[in-house]
Amino acid sequence: MLTLNLPSPIQPVTFENHTFYLKRDDLIHPDFSGNKARKFHYFLTHEFPHINKVVSYGSAQSNAMYSLSVLAKMKGWQFEYYVDHVADYLKENPHGNYKAALENRMIIREEGIGSREHFGDNVLFIEEGGRQQEAEYGIRLLAQEIIEWQKEQGIEDFNIFLPSGTGTIALYLQKALCKEGVVGEQRPTVYTCACVGGSDYLKKQFTMLEADNNCHPTILSLPKKHHFGKLYRENYEIWLKLQQQTGVIFDLLYDPLGWRTLLAHTQVLSKPVIYIHQGGVLGNESMLPRYKRKYGM
Ligand SMILES: *Cc1c(COP(=O)(O)O)cnc(C)c1O
Repeated sequence: MLTLNLPSPIQPVTFENHTFYLKRDDLIHPDFSGNKARKFHYFLTHEFPHINKVVSYGSAQSNAMYSLSVLAKMKGWQFEYYVDHVADYLKENPHGNYKAALENRMIIREEGIGSREHFGDNVLFIEEGGRQQEAEYGIRLLAQEIIEWQKEQGIEDFNIFLPSGTGTIALYLQKALCKEGVVGEQRPTVYTCACVGGSDYLKKQFTMLEADNNCHPTILSLPKKHHFGKLYRENYEIWLKLQQQTGVIFDLLYDPLGWRTLLAHTQVLSKPVIYIHQGGVLGNESMLPRYKRKYGM
Protein backbone atom coordinates (compact mmCIF):
# COMPACT_ATOMS: atom_id res chain seq x y z
CA MET A 1 0.00 0.00 0.00
CA LEU A 2 0.92 3.60 -0.39
CA THR A 3 2.87 5.19 2.45
CA LEU A 4 3.21 8.94 2.49
CA ASN A 5 5.82 10.45 4.79
CA LEU A 6 3.52 12.94 6.51
CA PRO A 7 3.85 15.38 8.12
CA SER A 8 6.93 16.11 6.05
CA PRO A 9 9.87 17.26 8.20
CA ILE A 10 10.95 20.88 8.57
CA GLN A 11 14.71 21.37 8.75
CA PRO A 12 16.74 24.53 9.40
CA VAL A 13 19.49 25.25 6.84
CA THR A 14 21.87 28.15 6.34
CA PHE A 15 22.21 29.61 2.87
CA GLU A 16 24.10 32.78 1.98
CA ASN A 17 24.26 33.63 5.69
CA HIS A 18 20.51 33.41 6.24
CA THR A 19 18.68 30.71 8.15
CA PHE A 20 15.77 29.10 6.31
CA TYR A 21 13.33 26.43 7.38
CA LEU A 22 13.04 23.84 4.64
CA LYS A 23 9.71 22.08 4.45
CA ARG A 24 10.85 18.78 2.96
CA ASP A 25 7.88 17.88 0.79
CA ASP A 26 10.44 16.28 -1.51
CA LEU A 27 10.60 13.44 1.02
CA ILE A 28 6.87 12.63 0.98
CA HIS A 29 7.14 9.81 -1.57
CA PRO A 30 9.91 8.70 -3.94
CA ASP A 31 7.57 8.55 -6.96
CA PHE A 32 5.81 11.88 -6.51
CA SER A 33 7.44 15.26 -6.52
CA GLY A 34 6.21 16.77 -3.24
CA ASN A 35 4.14 19.24 -5.18
CA LYS A 36 2.26 16.48 -6.99
CA ALA A 37 1.90 14.38 -3.84
CA ARG A 38 0.03 17.33 -2.28
CA LYS A 39 -2.07 17.97 -5.39
CA PHE A 40 -2.98 14.33 -5.94
CA HIS A 41 -3.38 13.51 -2.25
CA TYR A 42 -7.14 13.41 -2.67
CA PHE A 43 -6.91 10.85 -5.46
CA LEU A 44 -4.29 8.83 -3.62
CA THR A 45 -6.38 8.43 -0.49
CA HIS A 46 -9.89 7.96 -1.90
CA GLU A 47 -11.57 5.16 -3.81
CA PHE A 48 -12.95 5.71 -7.30
CA PRO A 49 -14.76 2.48 -8.18
CA HIS A 50 -16.25 3.80 -11.44
CA ILE A 51 -12.94 5.08 -12.86
CA ASN A 52 -10.80 2.95 -15.16
CA LYS A 53 -8.72 5.55 -16.94
CA VAL A 54 -6.97 8.82 -16.19
CA VAL A 55 -6.46 11.37 -18.97
CA SER A 56 -4.27 14.46 -18.87
CA TYR A 57 -2.12 16.69 -21.08
CA GLY A 58 0.96 18.88 -20.95
CA SER A 59 4.67 18.66 -21.73
CA ALA A 60 6.54 15.43 -22.40
CA GLN A 61 8.85 15.87 -19.40
CA SER A 62 6.46 17.08 -16.76
CA ASN A 63 6.52 15.94 -13.15
CA ALA A 64 2.71 15.75 -13.21
CA MET A 65 2.83 13.29 -16.10
CA TYR A 66 5.16 10.95 -14.25
CA SER A 67 3.20 11.22 -11.00
CA LEU A 68 -0.04 10.41 -12.83
CA SER A 69 1.57 7.34 -14.38
CA VAL A 70 2.37 6.13 -10.86
CA LEU A 71 -1.13 6.95 -9.62
CA ALA A 72 -2.65 5.03 -12.56
CA LYS A 73 -0.42 2.06 -11.94
CA MET A 74 -1.31 1.94 -8.24
CA LYS A 75 -5.02 2.18 -9.00
CA GLY A 76 -4.98 -0.25 -11.92
CA TRP A 77 -6.16 2.48 -14.32
CA GLN A 78 -5.05 3.17 -17.87
CA PHE A 79 -3.19 6.42 -18.35
CA GLU A 80 -3.56 8.43 -21.53
CA TYR A 81 -1.46 11.58 -21.93
CA TYR A 82 -1.73 14.20 -24.68
CA VAL A 83 1.24 16.25 -25.82
CA ASP A 84 1.54 18.73 -28.68
CA HIS A 85 4.90 17.39 -29.66
CA VAL A 86 7.53 14.93 -28.49
CA ALA A 87 11.01 15.93 -29.68
CA ASP A 88 12.67 13.35 -31.96
CA TYR A 89 15.68 13.29 -29.65
CA LEU A 90 13.48 12.31 -26.71
CA LYS A 91 11.68 9.62 -28.72
CA GLU A 92 14.98 8.09 -29.74
CA ASN A 93 16.61 8.51 -26.32
CA PRO A 94 13.87 8.31 -23.70
CA HIS A 95 15.02 9.62 -20.32
CA GLY A 96 13.80 11.33 -17.16
CA ASN A 97 10.07 11.63 -16.45
CA TYR A 98 9.17 10.60 -20.02
CA LYS A 99 11.02 7.31 -19.80
CA ALA A 100 9.78 6.57 -16.29
CA ALA A 101 6.15 7.25 -17.31
CA LEU A 102 6.43 5.01 -20.39
CA GLU A 103 7.74 2.26 -18.13
CA ASN A 104 4.50 2.67 -16.15
CA ARG A 105 2.62 2.03 -19.41
CA MET A 106 1.60 5.58 -20.20
CA ILE A 107 -0.16 5.78 -23.56
CA ILE A 108 1.16 8.90 -25.25
CA ARG A 109 -0.96 10.74 -27.83
CA GLU A 110 0.73 13.36 -29.93
CA GLU A 111 -2.43 15.32 -30.75
CA GLY A 112 -4.78 17.92 -29.33
CA ILE A 113 -6.98 16.69 -26.51
CA GLY A 114 -10.25 18.16 -27.81
CA SER A 115 -13.14 18.79 -25.45
CA ARG A 116 -13.26 16.88 -22.21
CA GLU A 117 -16.94 16.00 -22.68
CA HIS A 118 -16.18 13.18 -25.09
CA PHE A 119 -14.38 11.24 -22.38
CA GLY A 120 -16.99 9.12 -20.63
CA ASP A 121 -17.90 8.78 -16.95
CA ASN A 122 -15.17 6.23 -16.42
CA VAL A 123 -12.45 8.73 -17.13
CA LEU A 124 -10.78 10.89 -14.52
CA PHE A 125 -9.67 14.07 -16.27
CA ILE A 126 -6.72 15.96 -14.78
CA GLU A 127 -5.89 19.50 -15.89
CA GLU A 128 -2.35 20.35 -16.96
CA GLY A 129 0.00 20.29 -13.98
CA GLY A 130 -2.84 19.18 -11.67
CA ARG A 131 -4.39 22.64 -11.54
CA GLN A 132 -7.81 21.75 -10.18
CA GLN A 133 -10.12 21.93 -7.21
CA GLU A 134 -9.32 18.52 -5.72
CA ALA A 135 -5.79 19.80 -5.07
CA GLU A 136 -7.15 21.93 -2.24
CA TYR A 137 -7.62 18.84 -0.07
CA GLY A 138 -3.91 17.97 0.18
CA ILE A 139 -2.80 21.58 0.36
CA ARG A 140 -5.06 22.31 3.34
CA LEU A 141 -3.17 19.52 5.08
CA LEU A 142 0.10 21.22 4.19
CA ALA A 143 -1.17 24.42 5.81
CA GLN A 144 -2.17 22.51 8.96
CA GLU A 145 1.27 20.91 9.20
CA ILE A 146 2.90 24.32 9.01
CA ILE A 147 0.63 25.78 11.69
CA GLU A 148 1.30 22.81 13.98
CA TRP A 149 5.03 23.32 13.54
CA GLN A 150 4.69 27.02 14.24
CA LYS A 151 2.92 26.29 17.53
CA GLU A 152 5.53 23.72 18.56
CA GLN A 153 8.37 26.10 17.77
CA GLY A 154 6.66 29.09 19.35
CA ILE A 155 7.41 31.22 16.30
CA GLU A 156 5.21 34.32 16.24
CA ASP A 157 5.50 35.50 12.73
CA PHE A 158 7.01 34.11 9.55
CA ASN A 159 6.90 34.15 5.77
CA ILE A 160 6.51 31.26 3.34
CA PHE A 161 8.13 31.04 -0.06
CA LEU A 162 7.77 28.59 -2.93
CA PRO A 163 8.29 28.90 -6.70
CA SER A 164 5.18 28.50 -8.90
CA GLY A 165 4.21 26.94 -12.20
CA THR A 166 0.41 27.05 -12.35
CA GLY A 167 0.40 28.55 -8.84
CA THR A 168 -1.99 25.91 -7.51
CA ILE A 169 -0.02 25.11 -4.36
CA ALA A 170 0.77 28.74 -3.58
CA LEU A 171 -2.86 29.79 -4.05
CA TYR A 172 -4.51 27.08 -1.97
CA LEU A 173 -1.84 27.39 0.71
CA GLN A 174 -2.42 31.12 1.11
CA LYS A 175 -6.17 30.53 1.05
CA ALA A 176 -5.97 27.90 3.81
CA LEU A 177 -3.73 30.12 5.94
CA CYS A 178 -6.04 33.06 5.33
CA LYS A 179 -8.96 31.09 6.73
CA GLU A 180 -7.38 29.10 9.55
CA GLY A 181 -3.80 30.16 9.95
CA VAL A 182 -4.14 32.74 12.62
CA VAL A 183 -1.75 32.37 15.53
CA GLY A 184 -1.79 35.50 17.63
CA GLU A 185 -2.48 38.40 15.30
CA GLN A 186 -0.49 37.36 12.27
CA ARG A 187 -1.40 35.44 9.16
CA PRO A 188 1.65 34.13 7.36
CA THR A 189 2.15 35.56 3.88
CA VAL A 190 2.83 33.18 1.01
CA TYR A 191 5.36 34.65 -1.42
CA THR A 192 6.01 33.11 -4.80
CA CYS A 193 7.47 33.80 -8.25
CA ALA A 194 6.29 32.89 -11.74
CA CYS A 195 8.57 30.29 -13.35
CA VAL A 196 6.22 29.56 -16.29
CA GLY A 197 4.85 32.59 -18.11
CA GLY A 198 5.13 35.88 -16.25
CA SER A 199 3.53 37.43 -13.19
CA ASP A 200 0.41 38.36 -15.20
CA TYR A 201 -0.10 34.77 -16.26
CA LEU A 202 0.30 33.63 -12.66
CA LYS A 203 -2.18 36.21 -11.38
CA LYS A 204 -4.72 34.91 -13.93
CA GLN A 205 -4.16 31.35 -12.72
CA PHE A 206 -4.86 32.47 -9.14
CA THR A 207 -8.08 34.16 -10.21
CA MET A 208 -9.26 31.04 -12.06
CA LEU A 209 -8.93 29.01 -8.86
CA GLU A 210 -10.11 31.67 -6.40
CA ALA A 211 -12.04 34.80 -7.26
CA ASP A 212 -11.42 36.47 -3.87
CA ASN A 213 -8.06 38.14 -4.39
CA ASN A 214 -7.68 39.04 -0.71
CA CYS A 215 -6.36 35.53 -0.26
CA HIS A 216 -4.00 35.47 -3.23
CA PRO A 217 -0.27 34.89 -2.68
CA THR A 218 2.16 37.77 -3.17
CA ILE A 219 4.10 37.52 -6.42
CA LEU A 220 7.76 38.58 -6.39
CA SER A 221 9.85 38.95 -9.52
CA LEU A 222 13.32 39.72 -10.81
CA PRO A 223 13.91 42.54 -13.30
CA LYS A 224 14.99 40.19 -16.13
CA LYS A 225 12.48 38.00 -17.98
CA HIS A 226 12.88 34.26 -17.44
CA HIS A 227 11.97 31.50 -19.90
CA PHE A 228 10.88 28.17 -18.48
CA GLY A 229 13.19 25.28 -19.29
CA LYS A 230 15.91 27.51 -20.75
CA LEU A 231 19.44 27.19 -19.38
CA TYR A 232 20.81 30.12 -17.35
CA ARG A 233 24.28 30.26 -15.85
CA GLU A 234 22.87 32.00 -12.74
CA ASN A 235 20.43 29.13 -12.22
CA TYR A 236 23.09 26.48 -12.44
CA GLU A 237 25.39 28.42 -10.12
CA ILE A 238 22.81 28.88 -7.39
CA TRP A 239 21.77 25.24 -7.69
CA LEU A 240 25.39 24.12 -7.11
CA LYS A 241 25.77 26.59 -4.24
CA LEU A 242 22.59 25.33 -2.58
CA GLN A 243 23.93 21.81 -2.67
CA GLN A 244 27.32 22.86 -1.27
CA GLN A 245 25.94 25.00 1.55
CA THR A 246 22.84 23.05 2.59
CA GLY A 247 23.63 19.49 1.48
CA VAL A 248 20.17 19.35 -0.11
CA ILE A 249 19.52 18.69 -3.80
CA PHE A 250 16.92 20.96 -5.35
CA ASP A 251 15.19 20.78 -8.72
CA LEU A 252 16.67 22.63 -11.69
CA LEU A 253 13.50 24.05 -13.23
CA TYR A 254 11.78 25.91 -10.40
CA ASP A 255 14.07 26.16 -7.37
CA PRO A 256 16.97 28.17 -8.90
CA LEU A 257 14.64 31.00 -9.92
CA GLY A 258 12.84 30.63 -6.61
CA TRP A 259 15.99 31.07 -4.52
CA ARG A 260 17.33 33.88 -6.70
CA THR A 261 14.04 35.73 -6.35
CA LEU A 262 13.81 35.13 -2.62
CA LEU A 263 17.37 36.32 -1.93
CA ALA A 264 16.72 39.50 -3.92
CA HIS A 265 13.85 40.52 -1.61
CA THR A 266 15.40 41.39 1.72
CA GLN A 267 12.10 42.55 3.22
CA VAL A 268 10.84 38.95 3.00
CA LEU A 269 14.01 37.75 4.75
CA SER A 270 13.41 40.07 7.69
CA LYS A 271 11.19 37.36 9.22
CA PRO A 272 11.88 33.63 9.51
CA VAL A 273 11.20 32.03 6.10
CA ILE A 274 9.82 28.58 5.40
CA TYR A 275 10.93 27.47 1.93
CA ILE A 276 8.83 24.63 0.54
CA HIS A 277 10.96 22.05 -1.24
CA GLN A 278 8.47 20.62 -3.72
CA GLY A 279 10.67 17.84 -5.06
CA GLY A 280 11.07 17.36 -8.80
CA VAL A 281 14.58 15.98 -8.52
CA LEU A 282 13.75 13.19 -11.00
CA GLY A 283 13.40 15.89 -13.64
CA ASN A 284 17.06 16.83 -13.06
CA GLU A 285 17.95 13.73 -15.03
CA SER A 286 17.12 15.62 -18.21
CA MET A 287 18.29 19.10 -17.12
CA LEU A 288 21.62 18.29 -15.47
CA PRO A 289 23.37 16.79 -18.53
CA ARG A 290 22.32 19.86 -20.53
CA TYR A 291 23.79 22.17 -17.88
CA LYS A 292 26.99 20.15 -17.65
CA ARG A 293 27.43 20.22 -21.42
CA LYS A 294 26.91 23.95 -21.51
CA TYR A 295 28.77 25.18 -18.41
CA GLY A 296 30.85 22.25 -17.17
CA MET A 297 31.00 21.60 -13.42
C1 LIG B 1 4.61 20.87 -10.53
C2 LIG B 1 5.74 21.47 -9.79
C3 LIG B 1 5.81 22.86 -9.54
C4 LIG B 1 4.75 23.83 -10.01
O1 LIG B 1 3.72 23.85 -9.10
P1 LIG B 1 2.36 24.69 -9.26
O2 LIG B 1 1.51 24.20 -8.16
O3 LIG B 1 1.82 24.35 -10.63
O4 LIG B 1 2.72 26.11 -9.14
C5 LIG B 1 6.90 23.34 -8.83
N1 LIG B 1 7.90 22.52 -8.41
C6 LIG B 1 7.86 21.20 -8.64
C7 LIG B 1 8.98 20.35 -8.18
C8 LIG B 1 6.78 20.62 -9.33
O5 LIG B 1 6.75 19.30 -9.55
